[in-house]
Amino acid sequence: MNRKQLKEQIEKIKLQLLILKLQLQIKLLRKKLTVPNLLQPKIVVVHHGGGDWNFERINNHHKNRWGFRSSLGFYAGYQKFIEFTGKLFIARRDNERGAHTVDPAKPGWWNSNSVGICLQGNTELKEPLDQQFSTLKDELDAYVARGFKVMYHGQIVSTLCPGSYLKEWLKINGYIRA
Ligand SMILES: [Zn+2]
Repeated sequence: MNRKQLKEQIEKIKLQLLILKLQLQIKLLRKKLTVPNLLQPKIVVVHHGGGDWNFERINNHHKNRWGFRSSLGFYAGYQKFIEFTGKLFIARRDNERGAHTVDPAKPGWWNSNSVGICLQGNTELKEPLDQQFSTLKDELDAYVARGFKVMYHGQIVSTLCPGSYLKEWLKINGYIRA
């Protein structure tokens, strides 16, 4: 086989792999299972809930509205959620497609290339509780140690999320450059 034939062969295999990947995605979509990414994301996006809903309520809302079940058996669009008690809920694996950040200029990109972490409450109106900050700090430090970049929702699209109190805390603690 000469170089040109080899190149053609490689292109053919690449195409076959792409087709297989798309077929797998269609199968998962039909079964209403979330699509696992092949790549490990390197960005974590911080959100607030915007209201007082706890994890169970958010999970049920996403279940009834969209019904996409994660490999961990949950429906919430964030990978992680921190309730008022400081308790952490893990709804999706980090490398599993989420439903938390949509930029119309890059459809689907953020949900398959970033991890979404959300705090219960409206942090535009009320400061998060100490135990929420404590859990968030542990999580973000672990992500940073793994080479992740920390961002918040409002840096990606125009939104108040994750609220002034939380944005300020991210800056003061050096996760985001002020
Ligand atoms: Zn958000």
